[in-house]
Amino acid sequence: MPSYLTYADYCRRLFGTTVQKIAVDGGFTCPNRDGTLGATGCTFCNGEAFAPAYCRTAGSITQQIDEGIRFHTRRHRKASRYVAYFQAYSNTYAPLEVLRQRYEEALSHPMISGLVVSTRPDCVDDEKLDYLASLAQQHYVAVEYGIESCYDDTLRRIHRGHDFACTVRAIRATATRGLHVGGHLILGLPGESREQMLAEADILSALPLETLKLHQLQLLRGSELERLWREDPASVPPPFTVEEYVSLVADFLHRLRPDIAIERLAAEVPPRYQADPSRCWCRDDGSHLRPEDIARLVSQRLSHRV
Ligand code: SF4
Repeated sequence: MPSYLTYADYCRRLFGTTVQKIAVDGGFTCPNRDGTLGATGCTFCNGEAFAPAYCRTAGSITQQIDEGIRFHTRRHRKASRYVAYFQAYSNTYAPLEVLRQRYEEALSHPMISGLVVSTRPDCVDDEKLDYLASLAQQHYVAVEYGIESCYDDTLRRIHRGHDFACTVRAIRATATRGLHVGGHLILGLPGESREQMLAEADILSALPLETLKLHQLQLLRGSELERLWREDPASVPPPFTVEEYVSLVADFLHRLRPDIAIERLAAEVPPRYQADPSRCWCRDDGSHLRPEDIARLVSQRLSHRV
């Protein structure tokens, strides 16, 4: 048994049953890719790598939801409730009218009980958050922010295009409106020490976050980080060993506020997106450890502490 609050437990508390997220590509882009802040994106990013296949093949949001539910059902992940997960790129980066049309198409699907909207902290404003809060009067609505790091030096180094103060403002403004707030943090970014990463658990614990995803830094094909690494391999930190990562995550969770639900402890992208497969201990072809294996090892580590 995990000795932390899992996302599944969080959903059961909230919905009283099992919930499956259905990833939806709303056709958005992001200011770090369309030239507004930059054209090459955050250094670690290859947006395509994170989208399930059914998002790339289906058309409308309704079709994607239908296909997503079929996809999960085929894998015996049948749930009692489904929420639409606007995952790819920055899903509040469009005029309000566009957001309204995309979100409300998802919510009009008979199997969908709510929304999870993934976005950058600098892509929300009062008008958009007020609109999301109005939807939240009848539906589950969560905003998941790409935090990535709590340190401005790191955010500059990875070309994020906003500072940590922006993240704090967005999280607080979202929670103040009664919306559910989640975050996504990368462990192992260039320039961060183990102690700095652990201190992020304290920093995030002071914010009104309900859920958190942790990912190890991955070197993705087509990312700016891959280009930098090919130019100078020493510019990218060596990958964690499994032992290092499990130990780091266990220590991180030990310091994190215990009511923050943990949605993921490690990332997994298909091998075709890995720039250097030898750096990868989480592959989706079954030949390497998967995120659930990491979660099990972390739980074992935590259980030995109590
Ligand atoms: S990580 Fe998000 S914000 Fe950064 S380039 Fe990729 S889609 Fe844009």
